Amino acid sequence: MRIAVISYHSSPLDPVGAGKSGGMSICISHLYQALSQYCEIDIFTCGKRGKTRLGSSINVIHLPCENLRKFSNTVIGYHELRRYDIMHTHYWLSGLVGLFTKNHINIPWVHSLHTVEMLKTIRKDEMRIEVEEEIIKSCNLIISPTVKEAYEIKEMYPCVRIMTIPHGVDVQRFTPSADGHSKLLFVGRIDPIKGLDLLIDALRFLKRDISLDVVGGASKGERNFESIKTYAGGLPVRFWGPVGHTELRQHYQKSGMLIVPSYYESFGLVALEAMASARPVIGFKDTGLAETVGEDAGILVKRNKRNLAEAISRLIGNKKLRHRLGETGRKKALNFEWNKIAGKYLKVYGEISED
Ligand code: UDP
Repeated sequence: MRIAVISYHSSPLDPVGAGKSGGMSICISHLYQALSQYCEIDIFTCGKRGKTRLGSSINVIHLPCENLRKFSNTVIGYHELRRYDIMHTHYWLSGLVGLFTKNHINIPWVHSLHTVEMLKTIRKDEMRIEVEEEIIKSCNLIISPTVKEAYEIKEMYPCVRIMTIPHGVDVQRFTPSADGHSKLLFVGRIDPIKGLDLLIDALRFLKRDISLDVVGGASKGERNFESIKTYAGGLPVRFWGPVGHTELRQHYQKSGMLIVPSYYESFGLVALEAMASARPVIGFKDTGLAETVGEDAGILVKRNKRNLAEAISRLIGNKKLRHRLGETGRKKALNFEWNKIAGKYLKVYGEISED
């Protein structure tokens, strides 16, 4: 089976944790590396690096991105030579490529939204909502990482064909270690939607000696990053900037728990990484963490900063509970190993290409 993957706005080869590169890049690189044992894969993305081979049957093809139509025409040109069986677009900008190419290449089109603009609790972009609606109505299958999100999309668009496949985690890289400290950890791009301000507010309710490590870089320019640093002024918060997964592994291991205070989180890859590292997760019930973490690998509370502070203080004061939740998290994370997740995709790709 030959698959054309479109990841228009971020290359899976870019460093992760700042700018446009986050969970989606991690998912694309891990998923398709795992799938490349069974399929031939061409990943189309923006950039100047030309064609890079990631393995014997996986290419990352960087194309100029000034013009989405030109980008789409190049994909059509590749299809005429390579004859793909399936096209899988990731995120709404790649979905536009799907809309532009659909009638020319006429193969099953699978789309992953990654975040659904309509479901965000803050900051909605009307133009993006319209485009996502058109993508949802035009593609052959939507893959969503949680049952809740799939249900919400189905409620809005009853005719859509949708399936749930969760994201995976590298359980060999993220592993448990001997006791972490009670230090708090935040991992993610520094973007208003990630809710770091709420966590800083929560810290003010806690004892002064509880320290927080913030790992991740500016998502939308330095201004927001600088203002959040100022906001944390006087508190024991250390900003590490973006780090790669090799270094990140140690941050999880040295922490006592991960806090995910996002206003909107469709899945929460960082939660899964903390679970694989046997660290409990604290976050909000109304996010994808309700499925990723659930009730037994962390503490999920109703959205507000005081609840967040209470959950943190409960875990800080109870090492036994931290360990129990962490151990359960590790067990659960093993079900999300990338090879297992890739198997689910393989099955779905097989089914849809036979339809
Ligand atoms: N990440 C990273 N380095 C950093 C910060 C984040 O490698 O400094 C990775 C993190 O490990 C995770 C991804 O970026 O794999 C973030 O995924 P998530 O789903 O939590 O958030 P998104 O960025 O997709 O909104």
